[in-house]
Amino acid sequence: MNYRGPYRVRADKNAPMPEILHPQDAIVRVLRSCICGSDLHLYHGLVPDTRVGSTFGHEFIGEVVEVGAGIENLKVGDRVMVPFNIACGKCAFCRQELYGNCHESNPEATAVGGIFGYSHTAGGYAGGQAEYVRVPYADVGPVVIPDWMDPDDAVLLTDVVPTGYQAAEMAGIQPGDTVVVFGAGPIGIMAAKCSWLFGAARVIIIDHVDYRLEFAERYAQCEAVNFRSIGDPVVFIKTVTDSLGADVCIDAVGCEAAGNTMNSLLGRYLMLQGGSTTALHWAINSVKKGGIVSIVGVYGPTNSLVPIGNVLNKGITIRANQASVKRLLPKLIQHVKDGVINPKELITHRVPLEEVGDAYHLFSSKLDDCIKTVLIPPSASI
Ligand SMILES: [Zn+2]
Ligand SMILES: [Zn+2]
Repeated sequence: MNYRGPYRVRADKNAPMPEILHPQDAIVRVLRSCICGSDLHLYHGLVPDTRVGSTFGHEFIGEVVEVGAGIENLKVGDRVMVPFNIACGKCAFCRQELYGNCHESNPEATAVGGIFGYSHTAGGYAGGQAEYVRVPYADVGPVVIPDWMDPDDAVLLTDVVPTGYQAAEMAGIQPGDTVVVFGAGPIGIMAAKCSWLFGAARVIIIDHVDYRLEFAERYAQCEAVNFRSIGDPVVFIKTVTDSLGADVCIDAVGCEAAGNTMNSLLGRYLMLQGGSTTALHWAINSVKKGGIVSIVGVYGPTNSLVPIGNVLNKGITIRANQASVKRLLPKLIQHVKDGVINPKELITHRVPLEEVGDAYHLFSSKLDDCIKTVLIPPSASI
């Protein structure tokens, strides 16, 4: 696919074949790629330095068709899931398993590491919404897909499952806790599902899109609430938690949050801050004193208005990061094998890669009850 500017992407039948540029590279023929909610931030023109002509896609699996001279862990023919983080495996941060914060893979920034198909802010790497993709540091990230695993499950292990799981993990959920998840997209739904694994007693998911709330209620067996129907969400959460607030809140919305006109104006339309911070406001103001707010929703690097005084005065711990996919994969592969998590149930749409423009429009406009779209390249054989 090829980005032409905000709200415009199209298939590019003449895209050049990627080449090995470094001995640690591999070339992967893509078998599945997904469109992510965070791809919509790119599509809507909200991510700095998203260049016309770039290829998105950080959720993909594929078959290795070529390896660089320095590759030891992969061979041609391996079918691999490729974490969305690009990580060198050797720097001080990778050695702490902070694979989302690699210091080598993104020379453009000192915060996030490299990410496939996520603008030059995240390193300028071409993404996997393509037939072929170059995978740097290919001995570090890719994991061979077990024979028993459905490729539809595998592709969701590259971002959705680890990010949802890490959201719950960072939230420090204790047995008996009440968890509130803001955002009923695939990540929020997965975070709600995973909250039970840490012993939550009650999980409430909040959004304003009814079909997603219905899906979340069914898939994650949680309570689902439309914030348009409850007045002030902060008051609502206090009301249902004996006035104390939720034990933990998870922000799975990020920079395009609806629900507050001023925040939308500042963050989405005027771009005077790193996104609309409505969900984060609600999370901070509705978590209990001493509680934890876990952020996996994506925000821009610029300053944003958040009620930091409330964070201090309530003694809130804020934890946030891009998921460390590689760290979590062994555990999550086992969860899929055991049937604890069924990722592929999130997939509602399968679209040929050639129709990528329509697929983005459908997902962006939340048409046809879309939860998760998988793009199938013409050369994919499974
Ligand atoms: Zn994603
Ligand atoms: Zn590194």
